[in-house]
Amino acid sequence: MSAVRRVQVLVVGAGQAGLAAGYYLRRAGLDFALLDASPAPGGAWQHYWDSLRLFSPAAYASLPGRPMPAQAGQAYPDAGHVARYLAEYEKRYELPVHRPVQVQTVGDAGDGGLLVRTDDGSWHARALISATGTWSRPFVPAVLGRDVFAGRQLHTHGYRRAEDFAGQRVVVVGGGNSGAQIAADLTSHASEVRWVTRRPARFLPDEIDGRALFEIATRRVQDGGPRISDLGDIVATGAVRAARDAGRLTAHPMFDHLTAAGPAWADGTVWPADAVIWCTGFRPALAPLAALGLRGHDGRIPTDGTRARADHRVHLLGYGDWTGPASATLIGVGRTARTAVAEIAATLRTVD
Ligand code: FAD
Repeated sequence: MSAVRRVQVLVVGAGQAGLAAGYYLRRAGLDFALLDASPAPGGAWQHYWDSLRLFSPAAYASLPGRPMPAQAGQAYPDAGHVARYLAEYEKRYELPVHRPVQVQTVGDAGDGGLLVRTDDGSWHARALISATGTWSRPFVPAVLGRDVFAGRQLHTHGYRRAEDFAGQRVVVVGGGNSGAQIAADLTSHASEVRWVTRRPARFLPDEIDGRALFEIATRRVQDGGPRISDLGDIVATGAVRAARDAGRLTAHPMFDHLTAAGPAWADGTVWPADAVIWCTGFRPALAPLAALGLRGHDGRIPTDGTRARADHRVHLLGYGDWTGPASATLIGVGRTARTAVAEIAATLRTVD
C-alpha cells in the first residue's frame, strides 16, 4: 500500500476556483497540492458548447496575477480560449496539480487533520479547499413522462453544437443563461425551437455584462445594493440579443408532462418534438465531503464566507454567491480565494 502523502493544504478541483486558491497558497508560502479528476486542464470550460462566449471581454475575466489575453477576432472569448488560459496559468505559477485523481472521501484523520482518499492513494492535510464546481452534477427535474418520450433527451452537459440538431424540432427547457444561449444557438439549424420556462424569461438590461455583474455583486456586499436576481436572470449576450430581437427567441410556459410524441400542456396541446434539451442547472459536487456531516437540515452546507460552519478545516470555493460574491466567476473568485487562504494561513499559524 502506498504511503499517505502529507501537505498543509489540499485543494480538490483545479478549475478556475482551485487555481485561484493555488495562486494565493503559493504566495502564502504554504505547502499544498491540487487534485483534479479531469485528465486535462481547464475545469468546466473544456466541456462547454462551441458557440459559448464569455459574458465579458478577456480583460474582465482574469484570475489573480495573470490577465487573460484577448482572443484574436473575438471581443468575447470562447470556452476553448478560457481553457487554454487556465492551462497556461497553472504552468506559469507552477501549481502542483495532480491529475487525473478523483477524490472519493474526506474524513477526520483523528489527529486534528483530514484524511483524503482518492483513486490514486491517500493524502493527509490540515486544511482543505473544496473547489469541485458543479459541472459533474447535472440536474434534471422530475417531470412526468420523461421515460416515455420517444425522442432524444439530453442535458446542457451533453450539448455541443446546433448542427447536431439540423432539421429537428427541439424543445429547450430552462429560463437561465444556458437555456437562452442554447435556444438561440439552435435557431440557426433546427427546423423549430420551442423554448419553455417555468416563469416568464427575464433578460438583464442589455448593457449588463460580466463586469457589471461583478460590480453589482460587490456593491450588494458593501452597501446592500440590489441582488443580481432582482434585475434579471439572463445576460443578453450578442447571440441571445440577436435571436431575441429577431423574434426567434420567445419563451413559452413550461409544459405539464411528456408524451411519447413530445411535451403536452394541461389544455391538451401536444407539440411533436425530436429532442428535449434540459437546461435545468447543476448542483454543487460535494459528495466527497459527505462523511464529515457538514450539511444543515436544509441539505446545504452552511458557511461563514467560504469556511464550513461545522468544520473549520474545510473551505468551499466557487459554486455560487453563497460562498462569496461572484465566486463562481473568473473575475470574482480571486477575491474570495484570497480571503479563504488568508484565513487558512492564520489558522495554521495559530495551531503551529
Ligand atoms: P469547474 O470549472 O467545474 O472545475 C472543477 C474541477 O474540479 C474540475 O476540473 C473537476 O474535474 C474537478 N473535480 C470535481 N469533482 C472532483 C473530485 N471528486 N475529485 C477531484 N476533482 C474533482 N463564468 C465566468 O466567469 N464568465 C462567464 O462568462 C461565464 N459564462 C458561463 C456561461 C454558461 C452557459 C455557463 C454554464 C457557465 C458560465 N460561467 C461563466 C461559469 C463558469 O464557467 C463556472 O462557474 C466555472 O467553471 C466554475 O469554476 P470552478 O473552478 O468552481 O469549477
